[in-house]
Formats: sequence, structure tokens, C-alpha cells
Amino acid sequence: MKKPDYRPESLMMSYGYQPKWSEGAIKCPIFQTSTFVFQSAEEGKAFFELAYGLREAEQEENPGLIYSRLNNPDLEILENRLCLWDQAEDCAVFESGMSAISTALFEFLEPGDYLLYSQPVYGGTAHFIQEVLHKFGVKAIGFCPEESPKMLEKRLREEGLLDKIGMIYLETPANPTNTLIDIEGMSNLAKAISTPEKQVIVAVDNTYLGPLFQHPLQLGADLVLYSATKYIGGHSDVIAGACLGSKELIARIKKLRTFLGNMAGPWTGWLLMRSLETLKLRMEKQAENAQKVAEFLRKHPKVASVSYLGLLTEEDGEQYQIYKRQCHSPGAMLSIKIKGGEQQAFAFLNAMKLIKLAVSLGSTESLAQHPATMTHAGIPVEEKERIGISTNLVRLSVGVEHYADLIHDIDQALEVVQIPDLAASH
Ligand SMILES: *Cc1c(COP(=O)(O)O)cnc(C)c1O
Repeated sequence: MKKPDYRPESLMMSYGYQPKWSEGAIKCPIFQTSTFVFQSAEEGKAFFELAYGLREAEQEENPGLIYSRLNNPDLEILENRLCLWDQAEDCAVFESGMSAISTALFEFLEPGDYLLYSQPVYGGTAHFIQEVLHKFGVKAIGFCPEESPKMLEKRLREEGLLDKIGMIYLETPANPTNTLIDIEGMSNLAKAISTPEKQVIVAVDNTYLGPLFQHPLQLGADLVLYSATKYIGGHSDVIAGACLGSKELIARIKKLRTFLGNMAGPWTGWLLMRSLETLKLRMEKQAENAQKVAEFLRKHPKVASVSYLGLLTEEDGEQYQIYKRQCHSPGAMLSIKIKGGEQQAFAFLNAMKLIKLAVSLGSTESLAQHPATMTHAGIPVEEKERIGISTNLVRLSVGVEHYADLIHDIDQALEVVQIPDLAASH
């Protein structure tokens, strides 16, 4: 498709769809159909030749609609629209973020490979990497945000693993700690260790800031992954995922998706297209609210610390430098450490009235949860401590409510929290 001249937010209502295809309907209808009628047997043959890569497409020849496990208008139009935000050549949409992530890892790793991945990552991803990939002969090497690409290269060289890395997987900002990884630096490392026989792919889970506030492909990454359940969906009513990158890499991903059968359905595609129309409005408002909430929390006597990108300063050193280089906004995710432990964190969560106690993030309503016992419950205790998922950590996803109401709710909930040391010192 030709590159359009308008900004993505101006195109989200119409791009890739023509009303004449559907009786003049201004919106793309839900194509709730499993299969598509071919005009002739010759046409069916031609569609399959392209779908199975048996020959190259001729000029102006588009892949035809075959069967909804391979393609469907609601999926294809959604994929075209998602490409605009990340300036990607192609996109594949999945039935969940985890299916996008697991399909990408399966496609680009082989038994015997080592996967280099940043820590922490989303709990489900951590489980997949450590438990599932392990069964298929892929070993994992985790690294922390404190390790720069240079330090990593040195460590891998010393351990004799430099030429065994099959793929690099990054999650930045990391869920739930908001720590940042240098995407450009890691992409350069991948290029340095790639060989003509084997390209080391860099995949970035961009769920926290994308597709608006961070563009990993522009920084040298090969694949961008999303839980579209979060900001892209944005209304806590759909589970979906996406993977974006070059035509060549996404063709491989789509091929595996066809055989795993983990594509999203037409109804999901339609819901996400509806969500994309307000994506920018929502994300900008959420980031604006989050900054105000973070500033309030930072000054609160019962809060030990606040991790929010919008509070980083020069004093934060390399993390601040990475933030300045690769993020366009601090986004709307924050995590706080309440003074005390699990008891205090739970008291805070139980006392909130407007903000809901639920996992997930990026939705119009604000959500709070306790990573150590909820989203990241499966991570061994020592590892949790090492990567900063402590018992007093609470993760907040800030929504589009009035910020003053959010602050009011947080304030009254913190009021209820009893901190023994604080009480004694008064
Ligand atoms: C939620 C989430 C996922 C998993 O996505 P699902 O849509 O729940 O499968 C992956 N990565 C991050 C950062 C997430 O927050």
C-alpha cells in the first residue's frame, strides 16, 4: 500500500477501507465469515499460490481472500492501520499478546540457540521463555537494565556464548518496574554478532509505550510486539496481540500463524479498529493524568518511592539518557513502593474505591494490582527480589478519569494504610 501523506490519527477512521466494498457503509463491517467464494477455480489457484509462497506476486496483484484462518478484511485493514503508527512494512494480528510473542520466538529460534532477554519481562513471557522454550532446547540468558550492551558483549564473550545467541528479546519499559533498555545499543550488538548465515533478530515488547510513544523499528529493532489487549484495545473488553516488522519477517510470522491457527477473529479486528480511532486521545490524556498522580505520590509520606518515567532526572544517569533518546512521552504506567510490606500494599489496594483492583493495563479506567503475588507470582522469590518486584510494590495503570478524582481516591486509600514505624515516629 502506498505511503499516505496524513498523520496516523487522521487516518484511523478510514485507511485501507472503501465504502463501495460494503453497500456504502462508512465503517468496515464485521466480516463474520469463515470462508470466501472464489470467482473461478483459476482465481482460487492463484490465491493459494501467493498464500503458500509458491510464486512471487505480479505487479498490482494483491493476496486474495481465502479462509479466515489465513486472512479476513477485518484483520487485514486493522494490520494496515497498525503499520502506520510504527512505520512498519507489515503487521500480523493475533488472538492475544502471548500468541504474538510465542509465535515470534518459535519462528526465529532453533534448538541449541540461546535467547538473550531483558529482565524483568511480563510474567507470562517469563514463564514461556523459562519453561516452554526450555522444553524445545532453547536456553535463556537474562540480563538486567544495569548491564549496558558493551558489558553484555564482554560477559557473553567470556562465557563463550557470543556466537550461540539466536535472538534478543527486550521489554522496555519493563513491566512492572518501568526500567529501560537501550534499544539502539542492543540492536547494534545484534548486528555485530549476526553472521551471513544467521541474522540475530531483535524483538521488542512495546506494550507499555507503543504504538504512540516509542518506535523500536526506528531505533534498529527488527520486530515490535504488542499485547493489543492493553492500550491498543484500551477498554478492557478484548484480548489480542500484534507483531510488526519488515515484509520478509512478517511473512514468516504469518506463515507460522496460519499453521498454529492463532490469528484474531473478525470481531476482535473490528473492535480494535474502533479502538484505534481514539488511541491518541486516550494515551495522551492518560499520560497527562499519570504525571499528576506521580507527582502527588512522590510527596506522600507513606510512599517510599515512585517509578515513573516522567519523574526521571539527570540524577538517574543512564536511565534518564535512554529515556530522552528513545521515548516520546512517559506514558501512563507507574509503580510505587508503599512503606512496609505486603500487608500495607494490600491495605492500600483494598481501600481504593474508584480505581479497580485488577490485572491488565492501558484501559480507559484506572487499575491497580500487586505484581509480586499477581502478574509476576510465578517468578522465584530470589529473582523477584533481584529484579525489583518487592512485596510492597503496587502497579498503577492510569486511565482517563479526572485526575483530581484519582488523586482523591489514592489519598483516601493511603489514609487507611497503617505503617508501624511511621506511627511510632509521630
Ligand atoms: C499483558 C501483557 C502481555 C501479554 O498479553 P496478552 O494480551 O494478555 O496475551 C505481554 N507483554 C506485556 C508487557 C503485557 O503487559
